[in-house]
Amino acid sequence: KKKIAIMTSGGDSPGMNGVVRACVRMAIHMGCDAYCIYEGYEGLVRGGDLIRKMNWYDVRGWLSEGGTLIGTARCMAFFERAGRLAAAKNMILHGIDALIICGGDGSLTGADRFRAEWPSLLDELAANGEFTTQELQPFRHLNIVGLVGSIDNDLSGTDATIGCYSALARICYAVDLIEATASSHSRAFVVEVMGRHCGWLALMAGVATGADFIFIPEKPREDNWREEMCSIVEHHRKIGKRKTIVIIAEGALDREGNKITPTMVKDLLADKDGLGLDTRITTLGHVQRGGTAVAYDRMLATLQGVEAVKAVLEATPETKTCVIAITENKIVRKPLMEAVQDTKKVAKAIERQDFDEAMALRDAEFSE
Ligand code: ADP
Repeated sequence: KKKIAIMTSGGDSPGMNGVVRACVRMAIHMGCDAYCIYEGYEGLVRGGDLIRKMNWYDVRGWLSEGGTLIGTARCMAFFERAGRLAAAKNMILHGIDALIICGGDGSLTGADRFRAEWPSLLDELAANGEFTTQELQPFRHLNIVGLVGSIDNDLSGTDATIGCYSALARICYAVDLIEATASSHSRAFVVEVMGRHCGWLALMAGVATGADFIFIPEKPREDNWREEMCSIVEHHRKIGKRKTIVIIAEGALDREGNKITPTMVKDLLADKDGLGLDTRITTLGHVQRGGTAVAYDRMLATLQGVEAVKAVLEATPETKTCVIAITENKIVRKPLMEAVQDTKKVAKAIERQDFDEAMALRDAEFSE
């Protein structure tokens, strides 16, 4: 019987439980044994009861649970070869030769590294006398499939990451709540949202709530952004709008690569010599990650989980490590490392302040 393990890693996102449920059940449905690795790579490195065999009913009700019930962690040991060697040993002890990992670009980078190193890890285990060559024979080919769980929608090659629509829905809900009080008091609110290097959450939240002004990392405003923002807000006020909402991504920058902070924006809107608005800052923080997954993320988690198990079962030693994506509403397999490298290219372009390149890369992602 093939033994397939599933794990969640890196930052949690709504929908991860749906992924685990789908993978466990599809694996069992296909006649395999399903395992969960608890606490991300930490569970793989430490082994023992952090690697557990799962039954069909163990994941009952998981679709409507937030976060990840099998835990996630940032694991320093997995950055070191010794940690990955311990991970390989634990997998072999449990008879596992296929791994489905749901996480962000960091987790998927770790996965690719693990697979690339796998043959030499086996050699080292044999040389250390941990296993005989014969015992290792069935494990010659490690099969890894990635799934993208992230609220940021920051992975290249997929239109939506599992969790991003839940986070977006939560931001919209929070802004709706804020708007009622903003309107009542004629206030301005500067709302900071998550997203790291990616402005998707801020941009889409701005569109979905009709925000007055948006700041994202990939496309900094022109140098005169202060005047531009104030004149737009002033215009909206003149035509009778009693509330002002400015959405700012946590990674927002100006053209020189300096951070634009909510405080800077607040001070500008509140400036007595300018608009003089009663302005408050709301940092949504981890509220954006919490709660249950919206219907779209549950669907994505389930369809992609099923596809991940299919990809594991169809893989040959020649198959490149793949990540399950959604492109134009179709669930597809893509080379994992290309998706991760393209993602890093955007972050690097932003770091070098090559914003035209960052935007061109983002445009290419969505018009693929
Ligand atoms: P995310 O998956 O959400 O991007 P991180 O970047 O924190 O989150 O990565 C999660 C974990 O993946 C890390 O704590 C580490 O255990 C593993 N990991 C990330 N990058 C690497 C790498 N280059 N080599 C080995 N392991 C890695």
